[in-house]
Amino acid sequence: MKDPDFIIAGAGHNSLITACYLSAAGYRCRVLDARGIPGGGCATEEILGPGYAIDTCSTGHTLILQNPLIRLDELGLVKAHGLSYLEPDPVAHVGFPDGEQVTMFLDRDKTLAEIARFSDADARSYARLLEEFDELRPLLGRARGAPVGQGPSLKALLADHPRGNVWTRRMAMSARDVILREFEERHIRAFMGWMAFQTAVPIDQAGTGLLPYQIIAGRQARSWSIPKGGSGRLTDALVGYLTDKGAEIECGAHIDRLIVEGGRCVGVVTRDGREHRATAGVVSTIHVKHLLDMAPAELWPEEFRYGVDTYNVGVPFFASYLATTAPPVFETPNGPVTAVSAGFAGWFEDLVRSGQDIYNGTLSEEINWLLVATPSLADPSRAPAGHHTVKVLTHTIHDLPGAGPAGWAARKEAFADRLIDTIRRFCPGFTDEVILARLTKSPVDIAAANPHMIDGAPHGGDRSITYAGDQRPTPGWAAHRMPIPGLWQTGGTTHPGGSITGYPGRNAAMVVLSDMGRDPAEVMQIQGRTT
Ligand SMILES: Cc1cc2nc3c(=O)[nH]c(=O)nc-3n(C[C@H](O)[C@H](O)[C@H](O)COP(=O)(O)OP(=O)(O)OC[C@H]3O[C@@H](n4cnc5c(N)ncnc54)[C@H](O)[C@@H]3O)c2cc1C
Repeated sequence: MKDPDFIIAGAGHNSLITACYLSAAGYRCRVLDARGIPGGGCATEEILGPGYAIDTCSTGHTLILQNPLIRLDELGLVKAHGLSYLEPDPVAHVGFPDGEQVTMFLDRDKTLAEIARFSDADARSYARLLEEFDELRPLLGRARGAPVGQGPSLKALLADHPRGNVWTRRMAMSARDVILREFEERHIRAFMGWMAFQTAVPIDQAGTGLLPYQIIAGRQARSWSIPKGGSGRLTDALVGYLTDKGAEIECGAHIDRLIVEGGRCVGVVTRDGREHRATAGVVSTIHVKHLLDMAPAELWPEEFRYGVDTYNVGVPFFASYLATTAPPVFETPNGPVTAVSAGFAGWFEDLVRSGQDIYNGTLSEEINWLLVATPSLADPSRAPAGHHTVKVLTHTIHDLPGAGPAGWAARKEAFADRLIDTIRRFCPGFTDEVILARLTKSPVDIAAANPHMIDGAPHGGDRSITYAGDQRPTPGWAAHRMPIPGLWQTGGTTHPGGSITGYPGRNAAMVVLSDMGRDPAEVMQIQGRTT
């Protein structure tokens, strides 16, 4: 078989996006992935039996809808490859330790009225946060939608902004400090903390200050958007595009080594000993911590090795997946409420502490943050008639004190029981009788299913200020070019990080195309339009 132009190492949504743009430019790509299916954390699998389409990782895709890939449908994924999005309403429903609950609606005024039940001042603050964020939104889009070094950073854009100094301070603050400053009532503080902790960065970390603005603005505009049919429909659309372009996609191909000849990366070696060579180079979503072991140490500069060594892999996830005959129905004084995105928030100070506990390697005995995703409420196609798919998610640690990672095998079902019991405080009808099947993944299982999710941490690395922007993955190598010529990096370990945003994938494509002497704007058909 003729060598392709590029080996794409990993088939997460980001590297598939890079492969799509390279294919659009006429390059031949071979995509290799360790998993049995493409998509990485953007996958829908029938792990609980036929008809139950379970999102094994991501469900909410709000962020990628701003990416020109989808916003302008640059590759025709919507027009020609069956991708479509649903905007569930209510947006979110959250219970608190005293039994109170709050609902967020797509209708901004209904959300404000709901917040005003607790505090008029907080409802005014919430409206103000949304209004203020409008002035930042275009700048944030530009900063995210350009590779580091190829466009102005957010900090540089703020230098010319009339309120740039306000936002510069906010960007460096923690979500905790922003929420404590802007909100006074304990339920609303807890609700805002629950929202901010969704990105899995402890909310007292410097550099998380934008989250309270950014997350509510995105959700208020387009809910926790979900692809119709499941998260994996995005992957299907990308794979469909690649197949039409003649790209090869091989799953079950774990890459163990880079081939470097004449100082240049010319391919990879898979676990079965096969060499896959490429004429132009390799684009990787292999975690940078693993990448380092895939070529001789002397090929990585000391500064790069230091950057990777000090890179924080991030906060692990714990998930339990359920096939049910009924959704979790929250009992409220105004009647039953269901929501695709629901959950439980401990008091604000406990939410803050639970993030600190994880950083300190302490297993928190209380549940302070819980997400209950029931996408089948908005998308009945995901389960047999009348049935539901439910995912229960929290943050935790990978190495159990005294027992290590192996300790999870004996402990995970009891931990999942505690999560489900927490929901039952609000959803008494969500009994064992409605749960037909359950599968639980501890951080160890999440890591085993995807080598990019080291320790079960979902986003390719912590996203606090130390590992953001031109520091991701390491200072000096944030522009997708790795120290070995012919090797480019995309995925969650690159700016702007994990989640289903597609930005690392599209940005990496811009860099590779430029390095090949091509004009990315022409390939992306944006004709110089600034994103
Ligand atoms: C339980 C859970 C729930 C989540 N929920 C959400 C959500 O609702 N919304 C959201 O935005 N995000 C969510 N995430 C996070 C999201 O899944 C990730 O941030 C996202 O998938 C990262 O995309 P990526 O393209 O960077 O890499 P990944 O999706 O991690 O894909 C990387 C790919 O590279 C492959 N790979 C790595 N190393 C090798 C190797 N050596 N050889 C071959 N292949 C290799 C992997 O097998 C994998 O397929 C969730 C994650 C988890 C675990």
